[in-house]
Amino acid sequence: MGTLARTREILGHLVAFPTVSAESNLELIAYAADLLSDAGATLSLSRDESGTKANLFATLGPMRDGGIVLSGHTDVVPAEASEWTSDPFTLTERGDRLYGRGSCDMKGFLAAALAMAPRFAEAGLSRPIHFALTYDEEIGCFGARALVREIAGSGIRPSVAIIGEPTMMGVIEGHKGCYEYTTEFTGMEGHGSQPDKGVNAVEYAARYVSRLLDIGERLKPRAPAGSRFDPPWTTVQVGRMAGGAARNVIAGTCTVEWEMRPVRPDDADFVKQDLGDYVETVLLPAMRAVSPGCGITTSVVGEVEGLQVVDESEARDIVCALTGCDHADVVAFGTEAGLFQSAGISSVICGPGSIAQAHKPDEFIAVGQLAACLEMLDKLRIRVAG
Ligand SMILES: [Zn+2]
Repeated sequence: MGTLARTREILGHLVAFPTVSAESNLELIAYAADLLSDAGATLSLSRDESGTKANLFATLGPMRDGGIVLSGHTDVVPAEASEWTSDPFTLTERGDRLYGRGSCDMKGFLAAALAMAPRFAEAGLSRPIHFALTYDEEIGCFGARALVREIAGSGIRPSVAIIGEPTMMGVIEGHKGCYEYTTEFTGMEGHGSQPDKGVNAVEYAARYVSRLLDIGERLKPRAPAGSRFDPPWTTVQVGRMAGGAARNVIAGTCTVEWEMRPVRPDDADFVKQDLGDYVETVLLPAMRAVSPGCGITTSVVGEVEGLQVVDESEARDIVCALTGCDHADVVAFGTEAGLFQSAGISSVICGPGSIAQAHKPDEFIAVGQLAACLEMLDKLRIRVAG
């Protein structure tokens, strides 16, 4: 069987595991582990706290530093079957497209990498090829966070990571971070006719949001010179605000769900520092002067690191050489690449299919994209053959 036919076959299996982020991915991981161990890989499996999800890290070639990681998440976003032309969890070919949830985001890349495993193994690798299959990317990159920690603790240090998110095989060298928070305000209820005798959580939340908008304006002139992001600065955004019980009752609680998209870690620190100071020195003292039980707590929903554009990037150089791309871009969506980079691994994003099809009904990957991905991986094989 040719590698492309084998990739389709594997993709059919991968799509058939309904690895929606809320569900277990253990069956998919077991399937991939079998394929990789058949190819002679050394496997390392680790489960999350619930025991229902696992990361798989597999190595072909010598166990030493300087390897190349092929990384992809195993989870997919939910699919509403009624909105699909065919069953989302049955890979279905129409024309030159393969339809199925996760086909482009990002089981297509995983299928291509797994199909290539026996060929990598035959090549007698001079530097290791690692396969990183992670859980819970779509809800905060939790699996990759754990995996990157594990790699750091394993004693071997890969030098390059290729994250196969759908880029139409273009090379992506940067993206913003995505930090998400929920801030809860606890005030003190009272009669609406006596506002000074209660602590209005909605009003304090409004002041907090107002401060956040103000910080948003102050972030604009902090845009790094030459930033290629659109917009070029770090943004903040309030997506949801809810609180209070009725018009004539002082609001006892309020919740603000907000996010920031930092172009660099410094900006995230700037936002946190400013908001933290405002809460500690202005809002909380005013609230607690009326009622000591009042509070403001912020919980982190997820902090997905950005991928910083760097002058010297082995990952970019290798993948540009493999794909024949003469330039690398930046994108607006977040990936696991920033996590790998923060562990000192040169990282780049390059994978088959288009982000335009991700997270939508009738998600598909074009067969030609899988073929282009296999071509890149085959060139990688030649490059690292002993
Ligand atoms: Zn993805």
